[in-house]
Amino acid sequence: MDTMEKKYAWQREEMVRRQIAGRGISDPRLLKVMGVVPRHLFVSEALMDRSYGDFPLPIGEKQTISQPFIVSEMTQALALTGNERVLELGTGSGYQAAVLSRLVYRVYTIERIHTLYMKARKVFDRLHYFNIVPRFSDGTTGWPDEAPFDAILVTAGAPAVPVHLTDQLADGGRLVMPVGGADTQDLICITRVGETLIRENMGKCRFVPLIGEYGWKEESR
Ligand code: SAH
Repeated sequence: MDTMEKKYAWQREEMVRRQIAGRGISDPRLLKVMGVVPRHLFVSEALMDRSYGDFPLPIGEKQTISQPFIVSEMTQALALTGNERVLELGTGSGYQAAVLSRLVYRVYTIERIHTLYMKARKVFDRLHYFNIVPRFSDGTTGWPDEAPFDAILVTAGAPAVPVHLTDQLADGGRLVMPVGGADTQDLICITRVGETLIRENMGKCRFVPLIGEYGWKEESR
């Protein structure tokens, strides 16, 4: 490992200890993965030194990579055990998909901004994270050809849960997403039990908008 990599490995350990384990995240597989995935590779070179800080960072196109704690909180809420096929909406930098990919069988991730989609693909290839299947499209209709999914994670906020997403959720599966207004949302966890959807509110959060057919309309913002 070169000096830079050693420095980032140390920053990553600190991040897990203080921001993640220190705030009650306890899933041992998740803590291990947060200590392994090189978050600095998912931001621009100018921001690498700040990439393990306790905050979100800009990734271009007015989008952000979520704060490490939020990534781990949403991931833990999915209660993953290892064999799942997971759908993520809002690839962005690709960091959340990368974390998921180390915990499950396969991750399908959709991004609507082409430059971000291309950049994320490059990082997945560089890291040899070959169980991530990226797609460039509006994700608000889900990914019907690959449904049902054992878990669905949406990393952008919408006024309501798009119906196609709950339709594509497998029995026993969980969907986590921010739902609410343009500025603040509630983090919602939905569990499918047969035909019943059980909804739980995990608390306030703040995400960029989910824009598309079943999200916000671009021109209204
Ligand atoms: N998970 C990302 C967070 C990115 S921010 C990460 O780890 O970096 C949310 C992303 O959702 C943005 O990149 C935005 O372009 C994307 N997005 C918004 N609406 C979308 C839609 N309808 N389909 C797919 N992606 C969408």
